[in-house]
Amino acid sequence: MNYYEINNKDYRVSFKQAVLQGIGIKGGLFVPETIPTMPKEFFHTAKLPNYKEMAFTILSKFIEDEINENDLWGIIDNVFNFNTTVVKIANNIFVTELFNGPTLAFKDYGARFTAAVTEYFNLLENKKIFILVATSGDTGSAVAQAFYNKQGVDVVVLYPKGKISELQEKQITTLGGNIKALEVEGTFDDCQSLVKKAFNDKTITNYIKLSSANSINIARLLPQTIYYFYSYFSLNVSDLVFVVPSGNLGNLTAGLIANKMGIPVNKFIAAVNENKVIEAYMKTGIYEPQKSIQTLANAMDVGNPSNFARIMEMYNNNYNTVKEKINSASVSDNEILSAIKFVYENYNYILDPHGAVGYKAVEKLGLIEKNNYILLETAHPIKFYDTVESVINKKIIVPERLKESLNKEKNTTTIDNNYNTFKEYLLSLVEGN
Ligand SMILES: *Cc1c(COP(=O)(O)O)cnc(C)c1O
Repeated sequence: MNYYEINNKDYRVSFKQAVLQGIGIKGGLFVPETIPTMPKEFFHTAKLPNYKEMAFTILSKFIEDEINENDLWGIIDNVFNFNTTVVKIANNIFVTELFNGPTLAFKDYGARFTAAVTEYFNLLENKKIFILVATSGDTGSAVAQAFYNKQGVDVVVLYPKGKISELQEKQITTLGGNIKALEVEGTFDDCQSLVKKAFNDKTITNYIKLSSANSINIARLLPQTIYYFYSYFSLNVSDLVFVVPSGNLGNLTAGLIANKMGIPVNKFIAAVNENKVIEAYMKTGIYEPQKSIQTLANAMDVGNPSNFARIMEMYNNNYNTVKEKINSASVSDNEILSAIKFVYENYNYILDPHGAVGYKAVEKLGLIEKNNYILLETAHPIKFYDTVESVINKKIIVPERLKESLNKEKNTTTIDNNYNTFKEYLLSLVEGN
């Protein structure tokens, strides 16, 4: 299977190249040439398929012979080594819990798979690769954990000093080894611009092999299709509506791919916070990027969602077709708080702020009796304990795997917000090897 660059369709690359390169030569995103469909027999199964076996069958369609069966199985066995759980919270409302991975957020699915295939492909290349990630918190921790101890790969995570949560900082700075944490005296945008400058600096790129593991990488997207299949098989009901708390729309795009591969879905709900570019698009057909606004569901504070281009490409840039498939609603911070409280008091279930955006979006669009809603819960509520505990008036139990990183020592390098400092740092890493 080849992948092409949106808006530059003649540029076609293998899966391997799409993963290692991340983005096309004109800055466009890669999409698969075709979306494979699963055979009818795949859906005629009496029992719930094994998650890893299903992942293998689905991902093979996108990778074909670029990774041999044994190796792909090894990768999958390792990547999906935590459970995906589907629970019922009310009559026709279900929750697929995507927070059972090491950093307690759904980004673990994409980041772990990206790390595994990057390591796999790069080992054949025999040159160390440096992954640069600028983060406002969640992506950095998922990527750091995912790449930890991967061979031939170093990760440099840049985060704004004092502007990420203590927990996120611990998850980034306590690993050590091939994970280098850089605390930047500046904002998230400063971190991002340092990374961009490095990618555009020939005196760096001629010398060091750089890559990124951000959400535009196709390897982040594909493994996210699997839990849609898993949710579908777990419930075995019709009239499905997937509710997707959305920021960069990667999760939603994965769902749309799963739908094209054969899962019957009535509708997808793109649930957003006050960053409502996609809601406006669904209403008007006009796409207008905005500056991002800070909210309680901060992993979705995105003003110009990168995967919008992929969605439009999948539906031939046809507004009416997109509108048939996707509905969207935006939710305020106050509504997030009241939804967390309501769901806890009525259904005895603790949502995190992102999941709460999803729940409230359903309510705002009007809950339809015949539908079965599957809400993707993208983060564990403990990650946002101060917000959540204040409305439910109760302490959330801290999962064991979290206690471990909380007890470890932080190890980070502080740099000023100056490109030359960053450049010297990068070059020193290479000299040190
Ligand atoms: C990243 C993130 C989202 C948004 O996902 P997208 O794929 O960017 O739309 C939602 N919830 C949480 C907890 C996240 O970390």
